[in-house]
Amino acid sequence: MRLKGIGVSAGIGIGVAYVVKEYVADISKKDAEADEAGRFSRAVESLTSILNERAAAVTGEQAEILESHIILLSDPVMLADIGDMITNERCNSEYAVNLVFENYAEVFTQSGDELLMMRAGDLRDIKNNLLTVMNGHDLPDLSSMPKGSILTAGELTTSLAAGIDEKLVTGLITNIGGPTSHMAIIARSMDLPAVTGINGIKHGDRLIVNGETGEIIVDPTEAELAEYEALAEERRRQKKALEKYRGMPGKTLDGRQIELFANIGLEMDIQKAKESDADGVGLFRTEFLFMNRNSAPSEDEQFAVYKKSALAFGKRAVIIRTLDVGGDKEIPYLGLEKEENPFLGWRGIRYCLDSKDVFATQLRAILRASAFGAVKIMLPMIADIREIRRAKSLVNDLKNELSEQGVAFDENIAVGIMIETPAAAVMAGILAREADFFSIGTNDLTQYVLAVDRGNQKVAGLYSVYNPAVLRLIYGVANEALLHNIPCGICGEAGADPLLTKFFAGCGISELSMSRASILEVKSVICRMKYADTKAKIAESINQLADVEDSLAFLRGL
Ligand code: PEP
Ligand code: MG
Repeated sequence: MRLKGIGVSAGIGIGVAYVVKEYVADISKKDAEADEAGRFSRAVESLTSILNERAAAVTGEQAEILESHIILLSDPVMLADIGDMITNERCNSEYAVNLVFENYAEVFTQSGDELLMMRAGDLRDIKNNLLTVMNGHDLPDLSSMPKGSILTAGELTTSLAAGIDEKLVTGLITNIGGPTSHMAIIARSMDLPAVTGINGIKHGDRLIVNGETGEIIVDPTEAELAEYEALAEERRRQKKALEKYRGMPGKTLDGRQIELFANIGLEMDIQKAKESDADGVGLFRTEFLFMNRNSAPSEDEQFAVYKKSALAFGKRAVIIRTLDVGGDKEIPYLGLEKEENPFLGWRGIRYCLDSKDVFATQLRAILRASAFGAVKIMLPMIADIREIRRAKSLVNDLKNELSEQGVAFDENIAVGIMIETPAAAVMAGILAREADFFSIGTNDLTQYVLAVDRGNQKVAGLYSVYNPAVLRLIYGVANEALLHNIPCGICGEAGADPLLTKFFAGCGISELSMSRASILEVKSVICRMKYADTKAKIAESINQLADVEDSLAFLRGL
């Protein structure tokens, strides 16, 4: 049987389904049961003993996390608060546990103490586990996952992701999540093939996951297995061959340097990107710090993460994109609700300029982090030069404020923009007056130029970055950047596409940012090409391309 989902992380995964069922408790207020306080303390005892068992079975960081959960779960003040609430309000444990844990998580978040702030997420994990055990359900358990598992879940939560042992998992399948979801980003950062939008997989099903096409084969035939094993083997062989490029500069044969950056989104990506071959971070998608929670991260909480990334990369650039919410990224607590045309609505810079508190909090956090490394600010969804001017004016006000307060920051911090609307692409020459650098967001640019919703399956056949309209605009933007002597990068998914690498480099693009797993392959293309020759070929043909077929033939011939 074949199922069709959306491939969000390339690769072939062959293995056996390991289905994780997460219990969602009813936390509404109800009358207490006869022995409600006893029910609560039995749940605490039972969770403590499960965590103890699990901590004893693992080592290192995993054990430390579990041990810290045990300590948090035994906090006498918090336990007393929950017990008091159950007794005084005669309410159910679920309601009291949720409220008290959320209150403490909020206090931790607002505390200004880096360590405590990181603990807020742990508190929420413990809360969910407590609610699960209290209702007689099993905790999701990845420790007994056998080697060769395809992890299958409704949604990949951060806590679940943190428990993944990359040696045991060969693929990921979820029901919820699009190409820019948490799950997709985690999967790409772990280099695991992943497909989303899939339902109905049973624990123990034998599976093939094709992260490229989004296809899942359930119970494959011997012939199918052989075919995909050969494909997977070929990928492994190619990857091994690319290892020789590790540590080499991304330089063309005629000496033009193209920086190869990593895209990151979660705190856990920082370390992985640092250990990869990346020359820096070309896109830090900060909206992930705002997801899966009930309130915005405070300035200090954001500062802690931005500082960590700045320190990790030292002199290498870390381009932090300001909050890009809206569009497909709904966040109810920020007042972002469903819109008639979300991609044409209140998103990115539009939301931030209208929500000064949220924007200023983030910009202050980024400015403070700039004292610790080569941090740059990047503004998403720019369509009008006035948006850059307004954002820069706010940055200047905040710089003055920080100076008055004696807080360190980089006076010369660069403020660049994403080129992802047709207006920005057409006006690049003008925008270069205000922007210190460009980074082309090919995911959005493609959807806006072609008027094709990037998430709508019905028109997916029309969505192609190879459309000459998109390639011509990229060429034009890169030319303007060269003319105005500012760096121009690519940070959409196309940045990782080796078929486009020569084209980008030949256009004069100076940096390519992608998931770290693609860096070596893209670098191998850079190191084998000649910039000047490619540039001439592009100039000769770019205006002759009529359709996607033409573009593909042209790109293959570069
Ligand atoms: C893009 O649009 O290409 C981009 C990099 O931003 P996002 O995918 O986060 O919208
Ligand atoms: Mg975008």
